[in-house]
Amino acid sequence: MPMSADFEKRLYPVLDQVVAHFGTPFHIYDEAGIRQTGEALKHAFSRVPGFREYFAVKALPNPHVLAMMREMGFGFDCSSAPELVLGRRIGARGEDLMFTSNNTDRSEFEAAARDGGCLLNLDDISLVPKVPAFPELICFRYNPGPRRTGNAIIGNPVEAKYGLAHEQVVEAYRLAIARGATRFGIHTMVVSNERNYAFMVQTVAMLFELIEWVSRELHIRFEFMNMGGGLGIPYRPGDEPLNLSALAAEVTELFDRFRTRHGYAPRLYMESGRYMTGPHGALVVTAINRKDIYRTYIGVDACMSALMRPGMYGAYHHITVPKKLSQNPAGPVDVVGSLCENNDKFAVQRELPPIADGDLLVIHDTGAHGHAMGFNYNGKLRPQELLLRCDGSVELIRRAETLQDHFATLAFQPDVLKL
Ligand SMILES: *Cc1c(COP(=O)(O)O)cnc(C)c1O
Repeated sequence: MPMSADFEKRLYPVLDQVVAHFGTPFHIYDEAGIRQTGEALKHAFSRVPGFREYFAVKALPNPHVLAMMREMGFGFDCSSAPELVLGRRIGARGEDLMFTSNNTDRSEFEAAARDGGCLLNLDDISLVPKVPAFPELICFRYNPGPRRTGNAIIGNPVEAKYGLAHEQVVEAYRLAIARGATRFGIHTMVVSNERNYAFMVQTVAMLFELIEWVSRELHIRFEFMNMGGGLGIPYRPGDEPLNLSALAAEVTELFDRFRTRHGYAPRLYMESGRYMTGPHGALVVTAINRKDIYRTYIGVDACMSALMRPGMYGAYHHITVPKKLSQNPAGPVDVVGSLCENNDKFAVQRELPPIADGDLLVIHDTGAHGHAMGFNYNGKLRPQELLLRCDGSVELIRRAETLQDHFATLAFQPDVLKL
């Protein structure tokens, strides 16, 4: 069931008015849906004391959406200095912000330490001596390597650039202690867009084993574990959704068991991006050209700059043509943008109702890793973002890019090094 049925029910009756006012293309996000998912997540893990979601900012880095996350009590998982800035701008401070960078440079460590700091999640043992002011509370990202298999988007952990190798874990915490760390967390992220909850239960079990091992070796306690994001959503009709309550029940059980054995348990952190916002966003475009050659192409008024996932990962995004009386398929079409790049396609050989110029197409599930992943190749600009509020109003939360934005980096003081 791609895109929540409730979102369709809220959006479709007002779609013409929204299009008349704002014009296409736009991403539109559903406040009510995002809040429902957030509340459901909190409720599911309510029996794990201290559970906290750190929304993965890169999925939907818009301050209006981040403010909703903050109202729900969530923190933010940031992987760059600009993402930390975004979090801080809406009031997040200190342990509200988890900084999970990789191949980190000095300026990023400085950004991490600024304005009350953040929760530092180090990606490698070699970074321990490079942190300018080592914090009291430290976390490391773990890469299980051959101990686990990843999935399509993240890939095989052995080939993934993230995290500490198994053999480095104890030494990493030892070095951190030598630099003054007294409080500890551990983090991993092994899957992405995974709807089989058993993967995440295994991840939590794996982190408990690590915690027991490192605690024993170094006589320390862990304050939290961060099980990562990667909770999947159903992009295709017929895809089973992730069984959140089964995931939460089994994870809660693991926490209870650890507490019984050790007399305490760490807090559980999660950093979902896609699960929180993916189904609660859609890209609305207008068909502008139809082309019949060896295949039929429906050209629309947005391109890869608005949504990279199909071109980059061959990802499926469901498409509906809401205003069509006949929903009978009219033969397979490719839905394409205008980039000079043949993978600039939102759908390949998709059965859709007959589409004429001027028809609106709704591309589903663009609420995570959608607008944010867009790029400016070919000088294509990124579209506006709208928010459908709980009160039924629709608010512009990011304007479309302009030519001035695009050419901004061409305005500079001449600088020539003569050799
Ligand atoms: C991208 C990312 C996430 C979010 O992934 P989703 O698949 O959107 O849940 C979480 N944590 C880290 C470290 C990431 O890089």
